[in-house]
Amino acid sequence: MSTRAALAVASECAPLVKTGGLADVVGALPAALAGQGWALRTLLPGYPAVMRALGKARPAAAFDDLLGTKARVLAGKAAGLDLLVLDAPALFERPGGPYLTQEGRDWPDNDRRFAALSLAAARIAVRGADGWRPELLHLHDWQAGLVPVYLRALGSRLPCLFSIHNIAFHGLTPASRLKALALPKAGFAIDGFEYYGQISALKAGLTGAQAIATVSPGYARELMTPAFGMGLEGVLQARAGDLHGILNGIDTEAWNPATDPAIAPFRGPAGKEENRARLCAEFGLERGTGPLAAVVSRLSGQKGLDLLLTALPGFLAQGGRLVLLGSGERALENAWLAAAAANPDRVSVRIGYDEALSHRIYAGADAVLVPSRFEPCGLTQLYALRYGALPVVARVGGLADTVIHANEAALSAGVATGIVHDTESVPALADALAQLCQLWQDKHAFRRLQRNAMKHPVGWDASAPRYGALYAALADASPAEPP
Ligand code: ADP
Repeated sequence: MSTRAALAVASECAPLVKTGGLADVVGALPAALAGQGWALRTLLPGYPAVMRALGKARPAAAFDDLLGTKARVLAGKAAGLDLLVLDAPALFERPGGPYLTQEGRDWPDNDRRFAALSLAAARIAVRGADGWRPELLHLHDWQAGLVPVYLRALGSRLPCLFSIHNIAFHGLTPASRLKALALPKAGFAIDGFEYYGQISALKAGLTGAQAIATVSPGYARELMTPAFGMGLEGVLQARAGDLHGILNGIDTEAWNPATDPAIAPFRGPAGKEENRARLCAEFGLERGTGPLAAVVSRLSGQKGLDLLLTALPGFLAQGGRLVLLGSGERALENAWLAAAAANPDRVSVRIGYDEALSHRIYAGADAVLVPSRFEPCGLTQLYALRYGALPVVARVGGLADTVIHANEAALSAGVATGIVHDTESVPALADALAQLCQLWQDKHAFRRLQRNAMKHPVGWDASAPRYGALYAALADASPAEPP
């Protein structure tokens, strides 16, 4: 099979820089697509962590003026990824996170930072880097949304696939920034990137790309409704024929309970016992007379963890135990710390971000709770399935697409992999937790559910060919570029 070239553009990429599921997917797609005949290079901002990981790199392009700053593009490899890194110290060489200062506030120049990333991507695609040019661009979330605008301004019609990982983030900035971001005035229109008087980088991607992908079929349908479209449902309805819902997979090598160095490795549910005991000890929890549930999550309104706080006493009264690893909104962090303080042997909370601990949690927990209000795909329930922790999830987005609810039919057919409950409802969540407690009491039946979960395919085998076919259709349909 001959190999075709594509450029991915993203603001995060695991394992180099990660704040959520976006990074996991951007990090996993190159390997998934290699098997489909596509060689992906990934363009990332030169944050300190990325520059450190890049090590030996060669200059592949240089810009004397990239939105008012000097920048270069470095080419190199890190963590098995073929990277192009935008080395623009004025924009990316700073402490803090990719989007936030150390105090947790948005960087005030985020619009310029990611517009520069997008402009660099367009210049690379048109003029090449190191003599290399892609046939197609895969743009991830609003941080790469302006790429089609800059491409067209450079006279290119190279095809773009724009992926929505989370439509909650619009990349808005005032119209007065048009000139500073080198955006054409003509694009500031209802069918372009204008959004209620502001510039929206997300809308630029949605209107400018030849096709749009999102991370589950369920979320693709939901996005076209007012309840989930976050004001862009009309734009997505207009592009319904170009919108593709393709489920995310996970890296089944890095997440393999049989070989995972972070845990006591296991091949079946019985092998989880050791991990469960260790987890209880690590978190200072009683073994309990009910299931050990876990949450690994950003603490934000999206994730429904305020609903879980309300349902928690009933679950604890039935013998349940809970560990939570997460960070985010201060009010939620404090509410969860208070719940742990009130139930010291039964609830334990770790505020922070800790990848290795997340592995130990998935390995030791009986169940993983994901009561999200909306969830484009969700990865936590996929890790949970792989590690035999039953996912208890809201019936929304990708959660509903990946978990088979333990109703009577699924139980008797032997295919159930978890519990699915109505979204945004404390009574429904409480019922789901009660069902979890009841299922857990029958050890034999619970083990069967765990075995089903562990067998459920969660890798890229089904989705990689869909991306491959979409890439090929887009590239084949595009007019030839001038040399
Ligand atoms: P989102 O992208 O909305 O945050 P996903 O479920 O798609 O949600 O992906 C979340 C990813 O981040 C998963 O890999 C999960 O294990 C990881 N994660 C979230 N919070 C933490 C944390 N505090 N520590 C370690 N890993 C975390």
